[in-house]
Amino acid sequence: MDKNVHVGVVGGGIGGLTAALALLRRGYDVSVFEQAPELQEVGAGLQISPNGIRILFSLGLEAEMLAMAFEPQGKEIRLWNTGDTWKLFDLGVVSRERYGYPYLTVHRNDLHQALLKAVEAIKPGTVHLAHRSTGIEQDANGVTIEFADHPSVRADVVIGADGVHSHIREQLFGSGPVEFTGIVAWRGVIPAENLPDHLVKPVGTNWIGPGGHVIHYPIRGGELMNFTSVIERQDWKVESWSSAGSNAEYHADYPGWHEEVHTYIEAIPQPFKWALIARPPMQEWVNGRVALLGDACHPSLPFLAQGAGMALEDACILARAFDEFDTLDEALERYQRVRIPRATAAVNGAYANTERFHNPLLADATQAQRYVDEQWDPAKVVDRYEWLFKYDATSVPLDASAIVD
Ligand SMILES: Cc1cc2nc3c(=O)[nH]c(=O)nc-3n(C[C@H](O)[C@H](O)[C@H](O)COP(=O)(O)OP(=O)(O)OC[C@H]3O[C@@H](n4cnc5c(N)ncnc54)[C@H](O)[C@@H]3O)c2cc1C
Repeated sequence: MDKNVHVGVVGGGIGGLTAALALLRRGYDVSVFEQAPELQEVGAGLQISPNGIRILFSLGLEAEMLAMAFEPQGKEIRLWNTGDTWKLFDLGVVSRERYGYPYLTVHRNDLHQALLKAVEAIKPGTVHLAHRSTGIEQDANGVTIEFADHPSVRADVVIGADGVHSHIREQLFGSGPVEFTGIVAWRGVIPAENLPDHLVKPVGTNWIGPGGHVIHYPIRGGELMNFTSVIERQDWKVESWSSAGSNAEYHADYPGWHEEVHTYIEAIPQPFKWALIARPPMQEWVNGRVALLGDACHPSLPFLAQGAGMALEDACILARAFDEFDTLDEALERYQRVRIPRATAAVNGAYANTERFHNPLLADATQAQRYVDEQWDPAKVVDRYEWLFKYDATSVPLDASAIVD
């Protein structure tokens, strides 16, 4: 496609910045419009499996990622009340050998800053902060992006990477059905020095129990422990990354859970909580000259740890489609046809884990042993994760043979 197209990206989160970087590296002109007036340390940890790491390395971020992330040696399952432990799978050197890339855990803000720096190094002034888009208008020649406090901007194509509450999705495709899942998530980041040594293990841990689960893993080279959990609870319906809760309320959500779980909760300087809202997968992501990307088009429950990974894959495929097809229509159509089946499968896989992680059988330790043996049988684990981790967005064919409907 003509390299002179000007791409307007609305939303400077992980997906928007990765798309900007991938397009800039291919010689396209990009401007990113982000509503936040400044980029602060918000969010907590992200798990990025080899399918996502492959993309970040291909964009030149290998050294930064290895310096700022953490490489867990494996993942383990633990039972909510007894603390019984089972190995889920090995990572570290096993991941590098099996998939060609490591599995890394990273603070969202560290990845965000690395992407921002890489984007600004190619084209200084790409990212426009304090630009909250309020609407878009498209015609045969381009798209006008309107802002709350700034003059509107014209682009040839717009990428709506404005996250789970995407106003571009709403404008183009309607608000769609949303359903509160009856599940509330908590998260916090704990300085490792505030934890006893035996609670700072170099692995990702998934505690499973009836009606809830808990995940923790080190980030930022092990300086911090990312701690997040969910619980079935009906009374909190605010879907926000910045709603603060209290440690006392957090403890109260986990009665009877192992003392180690409560030691972590007690050590969180400021816990945050958000309601998990389900949205059915979308069948179309493109309307004319506008394409959605990341959480804007495939918001997911966070139970397969693929939210960031899928946004990275979208960005990589989108930039490749710009290069590999002659017209904008073809590029956007191919982008959505390649991406929708895979992102939908990831969203559905995350739903399927809800029942697996929260099963009532986990209430009783004997039944739990049988349940874990059956559900986390090594062959089933390979089935659930291998198709995700092995995917190579940097080289998967984008021609008609790649389309699975
Ligand atoms: C503040 C924040 C904290 C998060 N913390 C975590 C976390 O701790 N753990 C985790 O797993 N995931 C977290 N996520 C989600 C995670 O980043 C995404 O699931 C994933 O990376 C997909 O990225 P995305 O770019 O599609 O969406 P996001 O990363 O959500 O980025 C969307 C961006 O669009 C911007 N935006 C929204 N509306 C407008 C508008 N009208 N005009 C301009 N810009 C707009 C937002 O400010 C945001 O920067 C967080 C997201 C945010 C926004």
